[in-house]
Amino acid sequence: MTSTSKPRIAIIGYGSQGRAHALNLRDSGFDVTIGLRPGGPTELKAKADGFAVKAPGEAAADGDIVAILTPDMVQPQLYGEVIEPNIRQGACLLFAHGFNVHYGQITPRDDLDVVLVAPKGPGALVRREYEIGRGVPSVYAIHQDRSGNAEQLALAYCAGIGGARQNAIRTTFQEETETDLFGEQAVLCGGATRLVQAGWETLVEAGYQPEVAYYECLHELKLIVDLFYEGGITRMHEFISETAQYGALTRGDYIVDANTRAQMRKVLAEIQDGTFARQWIAEYAAGNAHYKAMKQADLDHPIEAIGKKLRANMKWLASSQAAPAKPATDAASQPQSEAA
Ligand code: NAD
Ligand code: MG
Repeated sequence: MTSTSKPRIAIIGYGSQGRAHALNLRDSGFDVTIGLRPGGPTELKAKADGFAVKAPGEAAADGDIVAILTPDMVQPQLYGEVIEPNIRQGACLLFAHGFNVHYGQITPRDDLDVVLVAPKGPGALVRREYEIGRGVPSVYAIHQDRSGNAEQLALAYCAGIGGARQNAIRTTFQEETETDLFGEQAVLCGGATRLVQAGWETLVEAGYQPEVAYYECLHELKLIVDLFYEGGITRMHEFISETAQYGALTRGDYIVDANTRAQMRKVLAEIQDGTFARQWIAEYAAGNAHYKAMKQADLDHPIEAIGKKLRANMKWLASSQAAPAKPATDAASQPQSEAA
């Protein structure tokens, strides 16, 4: 690549992030090639979207930037067997999450630039926000800068996916990995799920209608989170009633108390000392039996059946506003086939 031309980009994996990055980068004028296993579950989708699809090694050989957007647990083997033998000398290897580099599961070849561009949102949102001229905030980091140009490459990619429209923040692989895992475990996915389920169970156990409990503990959460998103907790206080404010201010600390904070510090400590990473890697290697069983329990929770019934009447959810599901390629559904 010359300094005036756009880097050629190879995207390995066409799932949640891969598809969104590929479509946004192409619309931003980049030359994008997709690397996928022939006959894999997302190959047809990438072709239907009009991309050139090659085997991962061939695609990697083409890229000035090679973005690894397969599930984290398949990346070490994929990197070792297919990417490292094929990626050009001096190319730029790009990740969307720092996990494998930070925890030493991938040690990139010494000649490569190694960068991270992590949009802080799921792929469907990365695409939708781009299409309406906005973007999902992103962070970026540099692990190796052999060309002297690694930061420029990361920022070019970040701009191409729409992330730099929103002030991309420079971070490190360590900070991105640890904060991303903490956020999803303690607050966004683990914390929010358990809070909703426990609230719903408390009302239903006390004899209230499960449908009413669903509206109170799950459905309305979106309305509150939308206010957070637009204007922080300040905006929530502007919109909710005085009674709701007084109740929140006096009762919120019953729920998130000193014990909850101690548990949050424990979650963080297990991320920082590698306990979580070792446990997840071992679970994946052993075939994901616990992961699948725990996920099934979430899917079988009675709030899911109530929600399904109520949402059938929410016509607006059938529109394009609803995020498409991840393709069924995640580790919980097909661990071993994905590890190939
Ligand atoms: P995904 O599960 O949605 O997509 C996986 C893709 O990789 C599919 O196209 C699948 O066919 C392909 N694939 C699987 N195994 C492969 C192999 N061995 N060789 C080639 N292709 C293979 O993945 P995702 O959730 O988009 O995650 C990708 C990366 O993005 C991860 O590093 C993840 O941590 C990061 N990330 C994800 C999100 C998110 O919202 N999902 C957000 C930020 C960062
Ligand atoms: Mg994450």
